[in-house]
Amino acid sequence: MENLKVINCPSCGKEIEKNSMTGKYTCTSCNKIFGKRAKCNKCGEELELLEACGAQQFFCNKCNELKSKKSCEFFIKEL
Ligand SMILES: [Zn+2]
Ligand SMILES: [Zn+2]
Repeated sequence: MENLKVINCPSCGKEIEKNSMTGKYTCTSCNKIFGKRAKCNKCGEELELLEACGAQQFFCNKCNELKSKKSCEFFIKEL
């Protein structure tokens, strides 16, 4: 089970909820939509998501390195 963390809107600080249909986060107070993104734990660069056979892997273009889910940090970004 994934441990659900509370995510707050970067604009207004209000708690935002994940839409289970779209997998995106919506802030009802500023009407903004956010998506979950991964960043490199070394350089902080946003990682590219590679999906192969249902397995999710991330790639850092800066470090030129393949990252597992464990070695990246997640943040939310306005879409
Ligand atoms: Zn907001
Ligand atoms: Zn990196």
